Amino acid sequence: MSRIRLLPEILASQVAAGEVIERPASVVKELVENSIDAGARKIEVSIRRGGISLIRVVDDGSGMDRDDALLSLERHATSKIRTAADLAAIATLGFRGEALPSIASVSRFRLTTREPDAVAGTEIIVAGGKIETVRDGGEAPGTQIEVRSIFYNLPARRKFLRSENTESRNLEHQLHLQATGHPEIAFAFVRDERVVFQLPPAPSLLDRIRDLHGKDLVSRLLAVVEGDDPKLRIRGLIGQAGVSRQSRAQQLVFVNGRAVENPVLTVALREGYHTALMKGQFPVTFLFLDLDPGAVDVNVHPAKREVRFRDPNGVREAVVAAIRRTLESGRQQWQEQFRAPAVAGIVDPGPPAPVTVSPGPGSSIPATAPLPSLEVQPNESLVSYWEPPAAVAGSRPQQFQIIGVPSQRLLLAQTFELAPRDAEWVERNVATLQKMGIGIEPFGQNAFKIDSLPTFLDVADPVTFMRKVIDGLKSASNGSSAMRLGEEMIAKTVCRHAVKANDPLRYLEVEKLVMDLLECDLPYCCPHGRPTMIQISLAELEKKFGRKV
Ligand code: ADP
Ligand code: MG
Repeated sequence: MSRIRLLPEILASQVAAGEVIERPASVVKELVENSIDAGARKIEVSIRRGGISLIRVVDDGSGMDRDDALLSLERHATSKIRTAADLAAIATLGFRGEALPSIASVSRFRLTTREPDAVAGTEIIVAGGKIETVRDGGEAPGTQIEVRSIFYNLPARRKFLRSENTESRNLEHQLHLQATGHPEIAFAFVRDERVVFQLPPAPSLLDRIRDLHGKDLVSRLLAVVEGDDPKLRIRGLIGQAGVSRQSRAQQLVFVNGRAVENPVLTVALREGYHTALMKGQFPVTFLFLDLDPGAVDVNVHPAKREVRFRDPNGVREAVVAAIRRTLESGRQQWQEQFRAPAVAGIVDPGPPAPVTVSPGPGSSIPATAPLPSLEVQPNESLVSYWEPPAAVAGSRPQQFQIIGVPSQRLLLAQTFELAPRDAEWVERNVATLQKMGIGIEPFGQNAFKIDSLPTFLDVADPVTFMRKVIDGLKSASNGSSAMRLGEEMIAKTVCRHAVKANDPLRYLEVEKLVMDLLECDLPYCCPHGRPTMIQISLAELEKKFGRKV
C-alpha cells in the first residue's frame, strides 16, 4: 500500500509559514514589502500586544481586483515573476508568492482591497487558511490587511513567542529597516493605540534618518563617497571613525532596496573601518548597494534576508574601498570644522593648507575678564615645536590650546636580562622591534640593552615596558602574519603606553602630542577605535559651572 500523500493545501501553507513567518515581525516584513511593491506612498502599521493580538497594515498602493485578491491567497501565486529568467533578475521585494497564504494559514486574517478607479472593493475573511467570507468592501483605494491571533492554531509556534515588549521591539526594528530603505514613502507606526512614529515622505535618506534617530546621530554620519563603477553603486551614510555600537542593530545594508544580512558585507564593513572601530564593536551604517539584479541571487532564504553575490570578492573590495574613502573624507571635513592643520599629500595634492600660528595672549586672563571666546589663540611655543613650513603664514586662528599642567618625565638607557626562551624570541625579533623604533640589541648572554624608544611613548621604566611589550608581541604573534603582528603591537603600545592618565608630561610635549595627533590620518580615535577627543560646548560648560540652567 502506498504511504506517500500530497499534503492538504492548508497544511502545506502552514509548513511554509514555519519558514517564512517566525514571529509578528516577519508578518510586518512581508506585508510592508507587499505594500512597497504595490507602489504605496504611505504605509501605516498598527499593532496590539506586540503584534500577537493584532497587526494591521494599510497602504495606498495599487490595490487588487477581486480575482487577484482571491488568487493572492493561493500558494505560489504572484504577480511579480513569470519565468525562470525573471527569477534570475528580481527587481521586486517579493517573488515567492508564499507570504499571504502562509500568514492566512496561521491567523485570523482579513484582507480588504480596492483599485483606485474601481467602484467597489473586496473584503475577504480567512481563518486558519480557510476562506470564510468574500464580499464587496468599501474601503479607500489601496490594501488593508489585518492579522489577528497569530499562531492561534499552531500552539507549538505560539509557545516560542517572546514577551509583548520583545516582539514589539523586533517589529519596530523591522519597520526601521523598511523606512530606511524607502525614505520616499510615509510610514506610521501605532502601538496599542499610541503613535510611536509618524514619518513624512523624506526628500533624502539623511532626512529620514534624522526623523528616525535624531540630529545627534546625523551629525556623526558621513555621506558615502561614491566610486565610479556604474555596475555597482555604493551610496548612503556611515558613522565617522570612532562611532560604534555594541550590537549590529544599526549596521544596516541594503542591496537593491532590500535589507540583507550577508557575511561578505559584514566582513567588508569591518575591514573598511579597520582601526577606526573598537574591537568587538559594530559600525553604524546605512549603506545601499545598487547593482544589476542579475548579479545577485535573492532566492537563498525563505524570508529573503540573505543574498548571494555573483562576484563576492568584487563586492567586498568595493565596499572596503567605499568605507575607506568615506572615512578619509570625514577627516577632511573634520579638519575644515576645526581648522586643524592639513596633512599635505594625503587628501589634497595642492599646496599645504595655511594654518595660523599667530602669537596669542598667553595664559594669563584677569579674573574679572569676560568669558573668553572658545576660539582660542595658540601659544608662541607652538611655533617652535611644530616648525611649520614657510607657507604657513595665514590668518586663521588655531582652535586648539592645551590646558594641562606641565611636569617632568624620565628616559634612561638600560640593560636587562630575560628568561632564555624569551631572550631567544627577542633575538629572533630584534629587526621587527627596531623597525618600530625600539632601539634594542643583544648585550651578552640572555641580556639586552635598550638605548631608545619611540618618541611618542612616555615610559617611566623602559625595562618593565619592554617586558610587557615582549609579552604582548608573543601573544600577538600566535597565528598572525608578521605584518599584523607589527600593527597589533603598535596599537597596543600607543594605547597602553603613549599617554596614560596621570602620566606627567611637559607642556611642550603635550603640544607636540596634540600636533602629532592632528597629523594622523584618523586623529579622532585611537588605533583601537576609541575616541581621542571629545567636544564640550560652551553652553554645556556653563551649565556644569552653574552659570546656566
Ligand atoms: P509575493 O509578494 O511573493 O508575490 P505574496 O503572497 O506576498 O507573494 O503576495 C501575493 C500577491 O498578492 C503579490 O504578488 C501581489 O500581486 C498581491 N499583493 C499582496 N499584497 C498586496 C498589496 N498590499 N497591494 C497590492 N497587491 C498585493
Ligand atoms: Mg510578498
